[in-house]
Parts: sequence; structure tokens; C-alpha cells
Amino acid sequence: MASLRRDGPRLPPRRHTPPRDLIGVKGKLRRRFYEPILLLSAANEACCNKLAPQIEPLADRNNLTTEQLYHNYINKLAQVCDIKSGGSYVTAIAALQRPDGVEYRIASNLRKEIEVVRMKEFVEDLLSTICACTDETTNIVTAKVLSKVILFNKARLRSSYVDRLAEHSSACLNTSDLTPVVREKLTEVQKLATDAKTPDAAAFIHRCFLLMKYIGKLSRSSAYRVFRDKANANPPGVKDCPWRELRHAARRLLSYLEAAQTLVEARFIAGWEPLFYDFTVTAIRSSQAETNPMIAGGSPTASPTAAQILNRMSSSCTPTQLAEHHENANDLQRFDLDLLIQKQCQRPTFCPYVHAEVLVHESIVTDTNPAAGADTLHASKFFGNFRYIGASKPTCRLCEYYFLAVADGIRVRNSHRNLYLNWRAPNVYVDQAPIGGQTAERRREDILNKMTARIRSDAFRTLSDKVAERKKHDSNTSQTYKHGGGSLLNSQPDDDLEDIESTLADTHLYND
Ligand SMILES: [Zn+2]
Repeated sequence: MASLRRDGPRLPPRRHTPPRDLIGVKGKLRRRFYEPILLLSAANEACCNKLAPQIEPLADRNNLTTEQLYHNYINKLAQVCDIKSGGSYVTAIAALQRPDGVEYRIASNLRKEIEVVRMKEFVEDLLSTICACTDETTNIVTAKVLSKVILFNKARLRSSYVDRLAEHSSACLNTSDLTPVVREKLTEVQKLATDAKTPDAAAFIHRCFLLMKYIGKLSRSSAYRVFRDKANANPPGVKDCPWRELRHAARRLLSYLEAAQTLVEARFIAGWEPLFYDFTVTAIRSSQAETNPMIAGGSPTASPTAAQILNRMSSSCTPTQLAEHHENANDLQRFDLDLLIQKQCQRPTFCPYVHAEVLVHESIVTDTNPAAGADTLHASKFFGNFRYIGASKPTCRLCEYYFLAVADGIRVRNSHRNLYLNWRAPNVYVDQAPIGGQTAERRREDILNKMTARIRSDAFRTLSDKVAERKKHDSNTSQTYKHGGGSLLNSQPDDDLEDIESTLADTHLYND
């Protein structure tokens, strides 16, 4: 067995001191890029009660190819690093093949440096724990992995799922036409979720698991049909349906048990041993969030109106088409389209940053480490030849367009098509080497122009169709791939779950 290599507790030193000089995006290009995004975002908001149907159909987990299993593994590893809701902790991971082992490359949207170090240590600890797994100790190791995952994600699990399960099950109990069986099951969910609201870490882990186990069993029972039908009964645009929120919280909570199982199962896939034995973890710093890109020279410019933005997009269409776009935009003025654009422009939180998938991609593209060799994007440079960057969330629309524009064969998760204003391209430095025969600045300009063309088309289409394309919950990470039978939990034998539970009940576990 090869020895496990562990890096120290700090991130690698910055290579360039003093800091490298940046080349900013030119003002005209910046406006050309962000204005249609603002228009599209405002149009989406104006049409918000007409949500498009969910995309990304899920493949059946029982029939996955090796490559899909790998995607699932990497995405689950990223999911357990995404410890707070809100987007800052969204994490992306690639596993690179080096001459002397696997290098995990990992980054988050906006994580403080100390938290990046903690994430790196968490991943190293998790992989080392899985490394020690044998056929005989699978359930014990799964319990250990699950306990580490629950502890690292404690705040999120508590506030986003356990508390909400208690709250929404209580609201669902107010439904008038419940059968005694459904009422009993709801009451039990409410009781278990309330019990799990404990400050004691060991008790929280154990009770979280009991809640997961109960929800899993419930989802396989005949009563689950009622839960499903009630969650599906309301049109997607209706807000605050407790049955739908209950289902979302239940799926999300269960996804952590599924993640622990997926990570441990990966240890037994033939040829995947190096993922756990010969690995290093390289954590990438998050980017700096930039100031509002619509503010030029330190003073706020007037927020553009839809008409002004459309006029500046006129190169993309004929005069007749432009007149139609103006007419469509005017239709949306009754939903305050201009005001929505203005609000987006002036929002204090409009501070774009580089998304995690793009950070990982850029670190690979610009890798000057001799171990990476030439052509860092070649399939042989990725573990198993899988040119994949996984993430804790499906890819957002702008990242999707970024990877389409780059078109270098790297795959990312399917997109949930949600549009986030806080998106920017990676930094370009004065001393940066050319990439693919282009200067880094020219390459960025090309990418942004290609993205802009797609965003403009989307904006025109949204103005015309008046249907927003987005999802309320951007995390269908409950399942990268669906399990057979339509239940929420996989077909883990009950005996295994009992073994995991008895291990979790051992409070000494957390000192291992
Ligand atoms: Zn993104």
C-alpha cells in the first residue's frame, strides 16, 4: 500500500510577491456583458410567476456507467464541503492524475482563507477514513464518514433541513383531509425533527440519522404517495407550499446519507484505489468579489432603462426585430421592468466573483507546476481520463455559457439555468503567458463576447415568451442520479442501517 501524503495546514504561498498586476475588463466590454444580464434578470423577475419546467432529467442510479458513477462521486464529495446555504460555499472539485498519484483540485465561490484550509483538512480526513475501509468494516466506516459529514455540515443541516422539517410537518398537519396513517407519519417526522434540535453534537448526529432513516422508510411506504401527490398538487409558481418544502427538506437531508454511502462505495470500485491512497488535496483561494461593475470611475452611472439596453444590443438584430423587442419590453413595464433593472444595478450585493467551477478550470488551464506537464487539459491529466469538474450544485447559466465558450472538452454538471448577477471571468495578469496561442486578455474578451451573444438571445426570448427560466431551489443535489422505485432513499438493506445506527450511537466515535 502506498503511503498517504498529507500537505500541511496552510494553503501554498502565493507565487508572486508583490501581487501581480491585473488587467481589468475594459469599461465598454464590461457594460456590453452586464447590461443584457441585467435586462434578462429583470425580465425573469417580471415573469417570475411563470416558471419554466425543471430541466436536468435524472438518470437511474442502477444503470450508471463508470463515468456517471465517477461524476456522482465527485459531486457528492463537493456537496459535503458546501456547508452553508446562500452560495458562498458552493464547491467544485476535479481529480487530476499526476505521475505520483491523484491530486484533488478544490475551490469554493467565496470562502475565507481559514475556511478553505478547514475544507482541505476535512477532505483529507474524509478520504483517509474511507481509505481504511474493508469489506468487513463498510458499515462502521460509513457511520464514521456520515458522522464527520454531519458535524462539518451541522449548521446547515440544522437550520435548513431539520428545523424546516419540524416547521413544515407542523404546517402540513393543519391540512384538513389527512388519513390517520398520514397524520401519524407526519407527527413522527415532526417529533424526530424536534428531537434533533439539540445543541449536543453527538446527540445531533444520532438523531439526524434517526430522522434520515425514518424519512427513507416513509418514502418506501404506500403512504408516501399522499405526500408526493400533495407536493405536486400546487402549480410550481405557487409559493410556500408546505408539502413541497417538506419534500425538498427531506430529500436534502437524505442526500447526506446517500453522499456518505456513495463516497464509501467508491472505495470498492476497481481501479479507483488511488483516489483514496495516493492523493493530495490542493485548495484554490476564492477570488475577490469586485465592486459593482455598473459603477464607473467611482460614481454611479444612471441605471440604464430596458430601452437603452435594447438599443445597445441592436447589432444582434434587424430594425424590425429591434422594434418587436422594444414592444415586448414595453409589455413588461406594467411589471416595473425598468424599476427592476434599476434595483438590480443598485443592489449593494452586486459584487461579482469567480464561480468555483471556473476557478478550478482556470487553475488547470494556467497550471505551471512541472508535475502537470504540457497540455494540462489532456484527458490523460485527469483521473480515469474523466475530464470533469464536479460541483456541489448544478451549473448556473453563466458558468454553462462560459464552458460552452471555452469549448475545451472539460465537462461540468448540467445547468439549472438560474442566472446570478454575481458572476465574473477569472483574473488576467499583465505577466500572464498566452493561452492556446492567444494573449490571456484576448482570450477573455473572446469568451465574454461569445457568452454575451447567448445572453442576448436569452433576453430576447424571455421578453418575447414572458416565461422565466429558473428554479426556486437550485440544489437538486439530493440526487445527482435518481434511485430506482421512486423512493427518496436508495435500497440500503435495513440491517446495514441498523449497523450504522448502532455505530453512530457510540459517542466515542467522534474522538477517532
Ligand atoms: Zn456559476
